[in-house]
Amino acid sequence: MTLCSKCGKDVKKMHNCQHTNENDYCVECYTELHYYLTEQVVID
Ligand SMILES: [Zn+2]
Ligand SMILES: [Zn+2]
Repeated sequence: MTLCSKCGKDVKKMHNCQHTNENDYCVECYTELHYYLTEQVVID
């Protein structure tokens, strides 16, 4: 079981990059993070 570092939800697929400070985020939190960073949805 893996928990999102931001919302704490149990998720199967994790996402991380330099913007998450190497934490694992769920796709919703990951997308939201990049939305605020770039004002558009970017998955890198
Ligand atoms: Zn999350
Ligand atoms: Zn990023």
